[in-house]
Amino acid sequence: MNIHIKYDSSDFSLNIKETAEICFKCGVCCVVKGHSCHAQYDDQFNPKYTFVYDCLGTDEPSNNPNIWLCVSCHKCEEICPYDVSPVKFIEAIKAQSFEKGNIHPVLFGELEQISSTGYAFPLTRASERRRNNLGLGPLGDLAANDVKNISERTGLLIKLKNIKEGVD
Ligand code: SF4
Ligand code: SF4
Repeated sequence: MNIHIKYDSSDFSLNIKETAEICFKCGVCCVVKGHSCHAQYDDQFNPKYTFVYDCLGTDEPSNNPNIWLCVSCHKCEEICPYDVSPVKFIEAIKAQSFEKGNIHPVLFGELEQISSTGYAFPLTRASERRRNNLGLGPLGDLAANDVKNISERTGLLIKLKNIKEGVD
């Protein structure tokens, strides 16, 4: 199967087009034990059909749900012998996919949590107790308010609300 990627002139991933196209599909970034892409461990991939190949080779990359398996660890970028950066391509495609209202439910929940509270995890009584035991004071609202402001001003909160309600 050949890799076909369509690029629109307005496509912001255009600037990484060359990077994506010089991928040799050698598989090094996904199969070198101990250094490879963690998403490769998903059962649907194998040394002949790697995760990176799946992301770069799909006809409509922004409709490919597998892109959300990438955790942006940048291992692929470091190990690639040909200076390809699959992660840059995948991140651009994730952004494009999000604009279209597609996002993995787990990440959607995380985004909601961070944008509304400023923290990646809910703060519980246990968190408070641990902070106390470590001699740390209570967490202030400053960071949380900053994140909320940024989320509001960048339109992220509206976007999340629209995705939740299925509005384009
Ligand atoms: S990104 Fe690099 S290491 Fe990975 S398949 Fe393409 S050329 Fe090979
Ligand atoms: S950045 Fe994404 S594609 Fe690259 S190694 Fe990490 S999980 Fe895999």
